[in-house]
Amino acid sequence: MKKALPNLKLNEANAVKLEQLDQLATGYMALVQRYVDHIFGMELKEARKFDDIPAIETALSARWQRCAWQQAVGMMRSFYSNERTNKPVLSNLTLQGNANVILLEPSNTETFDYWLRISTLEKGNPLRIPITLYPKARHTLSEGKLCSGVTLNKQDGVWYATLVVDLPQTKPQPDGTLVGMDLGIVNVITTSQGQQFGQFSEILKRRVEKSTQKKRRKMKLNACLKKKGRPPVSLVDKKFSRFIKNELGRTFNQFIKILPPSVTVVLENLSVKTMRFKSRLMNRILSASQLGYATQRLREKLDSAHIRYSSVVAAYSSQECFHCGFVDADNRPNQATFRCTYCGHHDHADANASKVLTKRFGDTELSGLADYREVKTILLHRFYGQNADARSVSGGLEPLVKHKSRDNRKVTVNQPTLTSFCSLRHLRTKGVTIQ
Ligand SMILES: [Zn+2]
Repeated sequence: MKKALPNLKLNEANAVKLEQLDQLATGYMALVQRYVDHIFGMELKEARKFDDIPAIETALSARWQRCAWQQAVGMMRSFYSNERTNKPVLSNLTLQGNANVILLEPSNTETFDYWLRISTLEKGNPLRIPITLYPKARHTLSEGKLCSGVTLNKQDGVWYATLVVDLPQTKPQPDGTLVGMDLGIVNVITTSQGQQFGQFSEILKRRVEKSTQKKRRKMKLNACLKKKGRPPVSLVDKKFSRFIKNELGRTFNQFIKILPPSVTVVLENLSVKTMRFKSRLMNRILSASQLGYATQRLREKLDSAHIRYSSVVAAYSSQECFHCGFVDADNRPNQATFRCTYCGHHDHADANASKVLTKRFGDTELSGLADYREVKTILLHRFYGQNADARSVSGGLEPLVKHKSRDNRKVTVNQPTLTSFCSLRHLRTKGVTIQ
């Protein structure tokens, strides 16, 4: 459950800092307005937060531009859905900063609680504004976790901040069916009921090879251009990323069609740490950014189909046994197979993972963790709590868990595929934000 802490007055900052904030906000709002004008002018009714940002001259950093674009897209989305016709003109100063531009840092002094660390036009020289919480806000914050993203707005000459806190919930009961889903590359979606959607690995492999060759040619060309002192061509393969997006969109539509009424879809949450972890596990085929894109897109599709969904921690879901809860990398003898080295339970690896995700529905202990590595600790703790014999086999603390060095990690994907997928990195600029 998310709770906003609004109207935190920023009246403890000195005049110079507030002046700087004014300047930043004025430039920022001008940019938001220009993006709004752009969307309005082009009638981009389907503009999205992670679309390429239109090239508009600005002194603001790429991070601020992304924020401004997101804010403009959000405004224009509600503008179009409310069927308004007059072009919106921004009059209030409101900055919706994500964690890339505004961070809340605890202060070490007695006089105030936090600093707002705001990126400015000068790189490496952020603006620090002191902030004091009212007692109720302090209490709320102590009970939950602060979400990234801070909104700043100015009313009657005074700046205010709004923070959002994620409060833990008691385990919710689903109203209807729970369907877990695992996102992968061999099968884009595998549900906890064993259905699979989007087998495009073969086509994808061919497209990846083609895209890699294209990139190589472009790099050669760039080397020539550089010698002649001319600007390089972009290495971004727009056609390829469009292909991926289309394939994902089609797959999501197929998946949504088969969902029973009153379903809650359980999917993996979008935490950067988990994403990194997951991308390594998926043999790096789906780069973290793409997985981010895919989940974001899926959520949008579910939203527009009015389907409920719930995000759970994805870490170790591919190594955890759905049956007994044992977590180990060896439970995955290969990409497609799950075979528990403790209880022998076996299943298609993706199907096991999607069932594990379903099991994590409403698991607040896991979702409250800040670091994915703690997830393994908790899972194994639970496992040993229920399977005391597992511990006594060799008398060790964690007999079944072997230390693996990074180099020994099994990689089942051939190297060319792996490197070529790095060319997909540009999708990262589609900037999925985690709110
Ligand atoms: Zn097992």
